[in-house]
Amino acid sequence: MIEALRSELVALRQAAAPLEPDADARARLMDLAVAHAQDFLGDLADGPANRGWDDALADPLDFAEDGRDPAELLAYIGRAIDRPGITTASPRFMGYIPGGGLFHSAVGDFLAASANKYAGFASAAPGAVRLENATAAWLAKVIGFPEGAAGTLTSGGSMANLTAIVTAREARDEDGGGAVYMSATAHHCIDKALKIAGRGKAPRRLIPTDARHQMRADALAEALERDRADGIRPWLVIASAGTVDTGAVDPLADIADLAQRHGAWFHVDGAYGGLFMLCDEGRAALGGIERADTVALDPHKTLFLPYGTGAVVARDGQMLFDAFSASADYIQPLGESGVGPSPGDLSPELTRHFRALRLWLPLQIAGVAAFRAAQSEKIKLARYFHARLSEMPGWEVASAPDLSVVAFRARPASGDVDRFNDDLLRRIQQDGRIFLSGTRIGGAPWLRCAILSFRTHLDAIDETIDVLARTAGELGLE
Ligand SMILES: *Cc1c(COP(=O)(O)O)cnc(C)c1O
Repeated sequence: MIEALRSELVALRQAAAPLEPDADARARLMDLAVAHAQDFLGDLADGPANRGWDDALADPLDFAEDGRDPAELLAYIGRAIDRPGITTASPRFMGYIPGGGLFHSAVGDFLAASANKYAGFASAAPGAVRLENATAAWLAKVIGFPEGAAGTLTSGGSMANLTAIVTAREARDEDGGGAVYMSATAHHCIDKALKIAGRGKAPRRLIPTDARHQMRADALAEALERDRADGIRPWLVIASAGTVDTGAVDPLADIADLAQRHGAWFHVDGAYGGLFMLCDEGRAALGGIERADTVALDPHKTLFLPYGTGAVVARDGQMLFDAFSASADYIQPLGESGVGPSPGDLSPELTRHFRALRLWLPLQIAGVAAFRAAQSEKIKLARYFHARLSEMPGWEVASAPDLSVVAFRARPASGDVDRFNDDLLRRIQQDGRIFLSGTRIGGAPWLRCAILSFRTHLDAIDETIDVLARTAGELGLE
C-alpha cells in the first residue's frame, strides 16, 4: 500500500512538473514576455488609440490538457487581446478617465506575485504591511489629512467609495433613517455603493448644480435645513472632487461647513480628481477636501497606475478599523504594533494582491516630483485645449476646466446640432487615431477630452485639435 502510493506520488510529481519551470525556463519565459511588452510599448507612439474587434473574436479559446508553446501564446495575446478595442495606454487615449499604466508598476506586480507575500496580515508579512500602511499614510498626507488618518488600497474607485460609505454607515447610521445628499452628476458607483451598503432606500436629496456643473451650496443648505425641520437626520453628504463628465469640482469648503453644522458625515469622491492635491494647480482647485471624513481616490487614474488600484482614506483611521476589523480563531494578530494595522482590518478583503508595491515602486524610482510635474502638465494641457478650441469658430466649449477634462461640441450654423455631434464622435472613434468619449449635458450630446495619461503631451493635443477640425470639416462644419 505505502509502496504503491509512493510510486503514484512520484508519477504525479512528474506530471505536475510544468508548474515549476527551472531557472533557464524562467529566464526564457521572461525574455519572451519582456520583448513582447517592449514591442507593445514601442508601438504606442504611432499606433492608433482604437481598433476594430475582429481579431478579439477570431481564435477559438480552448483549454488544453497539454501545455502550449509560450511564444505562440504571446502571439495570441498580441493579436487577440493587446490590439483590439481601445488602446488605453496610448498617448492619444483621452476618453473616459485615462491613466496610462506605468511600467514600473508592472514590475512591482511581477515582484509582488513572484514572492507572493501575504499582505493582508501583519503577522504574515510585516514588511509588506508596513509598506502598505506607509503608502496609505502618504496618500492621506497628500490629501491634507492630519495624524491619525488611515487608509487602505482597494481594487478601484468603486470599491473605495463603497468602503467609505460602509464606514459612514457604521459611524453615523447604524440603525438607518439618515438622509443622503449628492448631486445628479455623482458617479453611478455611489448609487451602487448605497445599495450594497443597504442604504439604497435612504432618503436621498439630489442637489442641483450651477452653470459650471458644481453642486450649489445654497441648495444643499436648504435641503439640510428642510430635513432638520422635518425631523429627518442628515447622515451623509457626498461631494465630487472632479466629476467624470465635465471634471467639475464641487465647492468643497462650503460643503464641509454645511456638513459640519448639521452633523453629517462628509465624503468626497475624489476618484478622478482627489490626487491632483499633489500639484499646485490641483491644490488651488480642491481646497476643503482636507476637511472630509473620507475620500475615495484612484491611483489608477491620477497617479497613472495600471488598472486595479483605488484607495480610501479616512480622517480618523479608527473609524475605518471599527467598520471592518473582525477576528476569528484562525487569525492571530501577533505583534502588529510596530507596523500598524493589518489591511485585513481596514477593508472588506482578507487575502489579496500586495497592491502597495505597484504604487510605491514608481513613486520611488521616478520620484514624487515627476508625478507633480506630469499632473501640472495635464491641467495646463486642458487649459491649452480649452483656449485653442474657444478661438475656433464653429465650436462651443464648456466653462474653463477645473482640472483636466474639457467638454465641448461643434455648433454647425444649420442642421441638427445633436446629430452632428453624435456623427462627429462616431467618426472619430471609428477612425481610431485618437480616442474621445461623449457625455450628455442638459440632455444634449457633448464630446469630452479627458487629459490624464502621463504619455499625453502637447503634440497629442495639437493633433487632437487637427483631427477635430478636419473631421468636423468633412461633416460640413464651416
Ligand atoms: C472612475 C471613477 C469612479 C469609479 O472608479 P473605478 O476605479 O472605475 O471603480 C468613481 N467616481 C469617479 C468620480 C470616477 O472618476
